[in-house]
Amino acid sequence: MHRLDPLFAFRSVAVVGASESSYGSAPFRSLKDLGFDGKYWPVNPRRESLHGVRCYPSPTDIPEPIDAAVIVVGREQVLPSVEACAGRGARTIVIISAGFAEADERGRSLQEQLTAFAGEHGLLVVGPNCFGIASVVNRCAGFVGSGLDEARQGKVGVISHSGGLLNEVVSYGVARGIGFSHLASLGNEAGVTAADVLDYMVGDSSTEVILAILETVRDPELFVRAADRAAAAGKPIVVLKIGASEKAAASALTHTAALSGSDAVHRALFRQKGITRVDDLDELVECGVLFSGAVSTLRQRPLERAAVIEISGGGKGLVCDTAAAAGVELPDLGPSGVDALRPYVPPRVEVSNPLDTGGSWGTQEMDRTYPTALRVFASEPDVDIIVSRFTIPRAGQLGVIRQRLDEMHAAQAEHPDRLFVVLARTSDQFCEEWARAVRDEGVVFLQGYGRGMRALGRLAQYSRFVRRRRERTSIERGQAACVLGEVTVPASGSLLGEVEAKDLLRRAGLPVVATARARTSEEAVRLADEYGYPVVAKVLSPQIVHKSDVGGVRLNLGDAEAVRDAFAQFEDLVASMPGAEFEGVAIQPMARPGLEVAMGANRDPQFGPVIMFGLGGVFVEVLHDVALRVAPISELDAHDMLEEVRGAQLLQGMRGRPPVDRAALVQMLCRLSDLMLANPSIASVDINPVIAYPDGVLAVDARIALHS
Ligand code: ADP
Ligand code: MG
Repeated sequence: MHRLDPLFAFRSVAVVGASESSYGSAPFRSLKDLGFDGKYWPVNPRRESLHGVRCYPSPTDIPEPIDAAVIVVGREQVLPSVEACAGRGARTIVIISAGFAEADERGRSLQEQLTAFAGEHGLLVVGPNCFGIASVVNRCAGFVGSGLDEARQGKVGVISHSGGLLNEVVSYGVARGIGFSHLASLGNEAGVTAADVLDYMVGDSSTEVILAILETVRDPELFVRAADRAAAAGKPIVVLKIGASEKAAASALTHTAALSGSDAVHRALFRQKGITRVDDLDELVECGVLFSGAVSTLRQRPLERAAVIEISGGGKGLVCDTAAAAGVELPDLGPSGVDALRPYVPPRVEVSNPLDTGGSWGTQEMDRTYPTALRVFASEPDVDIIVSRFTIPRAGQLGVIRQRLDEMHAAQAEHPDRLFVVLARTSDQFCEEWARAVRDEGVVFLQGYGRGMRALGRLAQYSRFVRRRRERTSIERGQAACVLGEVTVPASGSLLGEVEAKDLLRRAGLPVVATARARTSEEAVRLADEYGYPVVAKVLSPQIVHKSDVGGVRLNLGDAEAVRDAFAQFEDLVASMPGAEFEGVAIQPMARPGLEVAMGANRDPQFGPVIMFGLGGVFVEVLHDVALRVAPISELDAHDMLEEVRGAQLLQGMRGRPPVDRAALVQMLCRLSDLMLANPSIASVDINPVIAYPDGVLAVDARIALHS
């Protein structure tokens, strides 16, 4: 049982504001399109009958209890209508009407009242300002979009903030042979959120693949939990996230009153949770086609390596380029495969992957070559996907391609553990016979070299995520094991200087170079003697954030004389800066040289603590080449972070340098994640640099900002 069960399975529905007009009659049309066989009650005080049935002046006049209601009246009438429907027993209430939080102050206040009423009475409120919901498998809807007459039952669930884009995914998806389970357009999310529906679909037995068009994530905690459950259940989620650009973010606010949030954090979270991100509707639908065709095979084997059967040399080259760009492996054919295929291809043809047979799909040679190539590729141990790059007629008869398709089906029946895909050169129109075959025979049909390969690349990426996730159990760790208590905020301000910041990090179990503050020159020398030479001296002043920028760091001081000299220099330095206070000098041992990296953390208003890793210096400061993950992070997440930065190779050791201690970096990132989770008063942490060695790591500089 799921809280949202009633949303996608109801037996009776009232439509308040039903009429002959477009929105007034659309809910009725959707019910008819789906073959709804429950009860339909139009409500409109100015009609005797509508849509061939009796019309009621008000929901309270409906003679029986109702399961669901669709509201299509002016905004001032919405809340009274909701109250009346709830009074007749409706739990599911779909509000199509607009003019709420996306519009103005009055709208915002009306929406707040709706949310409050829904909360008090346990109603499932969808919208306002949406196209509503539909269950294709359960044949019920409160939906004002179109295209349900052609929608087939299937395993793809769709969630969208935008009704218009949802409609497009359904109508284009239908044409592409996608079958749907449930559809949800959520608008302003006064009640039910995208995360709620995601959570529902992950647990729903008829949904195997989830497509989502999101302007925001209003319920980040539930969203993350649902994404984790989807990964465990092997249900891929494909997201088109709108609002990356500044203008799009502004438009989302006036569209469904959505705050888009940080795109970098969304990107990091999607990667971390195995959510596939696409950039366009075409790609969303392409992934819908491919993932729904692949999801059952993916439970048997990885789907990362493809073999392609082509008839053109140019096409072969383009396949190689687009596959490389998309991250799709095209493994070479093994010697036994070459031997098996050689007798069946003309002598002029090179036996390879991709295979370019030359000529056309209709030659006599192809009658032998194609079926043999299918079987040989499907028998290769490292080929997961067999792509047939058919040349499909735009109009007229399908001709010989009909025969080739049957041959593909036959090979598929013999090799049920492989994925068989048809690729077209472009996303052109195709003859009706082909379109029918795609719809009726479950052909996984990708359109366009680049677009098709990108979809295959995304599938491969998801497959790698699934595989890593299975292997992860051995290095999985528990959550937030940190025993550190709350830190007390010093009176001086909200920024911890180097000495206090390092103390705090040390207590949290992070490896930090010993550091102490000297108020006087003598004290500095005493500390240096204690640590042993050489030492490092750094100026301490709340006004100096980047110490080396102003000459506030002296490295490699070899004796007491050098320490005294540095102390005096820093006193002069601060004195020369108007408004700067001198708070002494930090003395610390000079760490031995190693590879400098950086890590840090801050708090995202939506998703909470975000952990950062980058290589030191220009990599972080100029190239902004950093990897982000949302806390809590697993050891596997931390490993992924080390691999994700562009300079990752440096960690493996280069030019005679040994590789660095990755396990120690992983530990440190995880401790940082724990620290952030255990201490809400920490706003941000900046550790730059951490010096990484073949045996261990050491932080030599740190700053921590606290919430004041
Ligand atoms: P800031 O970032 O404020 O300019 P840092 O404390 O990071 O100052 O020092 C600048 C650089 O000096 C570091 O990037 C590092 O290369 C080096 N450094 C700082 N402290 C030490 C130390 N204890 N041992 C060795 N090198 C250090
Ligand atoms: Mg620094």
